Amino acid sequence: MVDNPSEEKYEFLRHRMVTDQIERRGVSDPQVLLALRTVPRHHFVPEKYRSDSYKDGPVPIGSGQTISQPYIVASMTEQLELSPDGKVLEIGSGCGYQTAVLAEITNRVFSIEVVPELYERTRETLREMRYDHVRLKLGDGSLGWPEEAPFDGIIVTAAAPRVPDHLIDQLALGGRLVYPLDSGYGHQELLKVIKTPDGIEEHRLYEVRFVPMRGDIERP
Ligand code: SAH
Repeated sequence: MVDNPSEEKYEFLRHRMVTDQIERRGVSDPQVLLALRTVPRHHFVPEKYRSDSYKDGPVPIGSGQTISQPYIVASMTEQLELSPDGKVLEIGSGCGYQTAVLAEITNRVFSIEVVPELYERTRETLREMRYDHVRLKLGDGSLGWPEEAPFDGIIVTAAAPRVPDHLIDQLALGGRLVYPLDSGYGHQELLKVIKTPDGIEEHRLYEVRFVPMRGDIERP
């Protein structure tokens, strides 16, 4: 039997995670910090890795995918600059942890996952955790969710060699897209794209390491 810590111990570890890994590295948006303090990350991590839930790194979630390091989840969420009535699209639901963090900030969360097993499990997890207002879709996220566009924020949690045009099209004016750009030779950079009346504004943030995006985007 796996000797997992108690719920109280997990809560203690979660608060320490926010203080030591996230605040200390400069994330300061109160709504993001509160969301990270609230969402029980260990409920999203598969049983056998559960005791690693609050460590300072990624954790496997099955199907060859990983849940991002807590700091990256917090920092990307902060870069989205979401307001409580903002509409946000996530590409790559994975285990649903990032989805739940977004759902703590706004009620208008849409998330697309391409792997059926992850999609099914995440739907179940989010239902159990009472994130009933989150909308999930199974499919290729590089096509976005045109019926629900425009979005104030779009967050991509798998790396792609270029920004899918569909996602830019589905950004509201003033909207922010945060995604890991795969620039080749094993390099990935986090990019923030803002849609302005004069066109696209691009900011390079820092180096990251994400799993590759699947689907349409792989083909030239
Ligand atoms: N946000 C996730 C991170 C998961 S890792 C979490 O908190 O757990 C990236 C996820 O993107 C994986 O689940 C992977 O299956 C998914 N993915 C990869 N390519 C995709 C695509 N084209 N459309 C939708 N999801 C995709």
